[in-house]
Amino acid sequence: MDTVEVLPRLHMFRFPIGQAYLWRDGADLTLIDAGDINAASAIEDGVRSLGLDPGHISRIVVTHGHCDHYGAAQELADRHGAEILAHRLDAAVIRGEEEIADPLLLDWELPLWEHARTVPPAPPTRVDRELSDGDELGFGQGARVVHSPGHTPGSIGIHLPHHGVLFTGDCVARADRVMLGVFNIDREQAVASFRRLAALEPATVCFGHGDPLTTDAAAAMLASADRDSGLQIEHG
Ligand SMILES: [Zn+2]
Ligand SMILES: [Zn+2]
Repeated sequence: MDTVEVLPRLHMFRFPIGQAYLWRDGADLTLIDAGDINAASAIEDGVRSLGLDPGHISRIVVTHGHCDHYGAAQELADRHGAEILAHRLDAAVIRGEEEIADPLLLDWELPLWEHARTVPPAPPTRVDRELSDGDELGFGQGARVVHSPGHTPGSIGIHLPHHGVLFTGDCVARADRVMLGVFNIDREQAVASFRRLAALEPATVCFGHGDPLTTDAAAAMLASADRDSGLQIEHG
């Protein structure tokens, strides 16, 4: 696992598949996603490597019910007394009460899907607080839920307007460019969610997969959202 500074109070933990983020408000720590089932110790080591105490992780906000995003959430929450938050529409999947719906795969996504399926299944995980669009999350001076369905029904973005920071979950990804995330259950809905996230015009964007964007982020998001929704004719 690599630990990467995004902003002085924001770090990324990068795993072979997927990543999680650590936000700090003084001593109070928030995790955005928690890696797969084997990620707990690595995340704790990453927190300590920054001179911080994992015992101060107060909350783990899960962007959606995929096992590369919440696999280690309950282990970390149990050890450190953290609360687990997720959108109500993915809560039953995260708790292990429902199967996640299969995505409608595009042909070019098939090899990526085979790779993604190597992530070990996540254990049933409690959700302490079910979220809805617009809910305030209690960190980052007013972090809010932006419901962004399509990748999964309960996918969320997390917006910190005070800091100009946006976490997209898997609605948006970054490979060689910013793009609509892959493996969508409802692609049309995902495109609409991408446009909604782009309209927030964030200065810093943190994706579920791919390196964060810290320069010209709003323009890159808006251009990609337009391109992926097919509403803009490309002129080469
Ligand atoms: Zn996902
Ligand atoms: Zn993912």
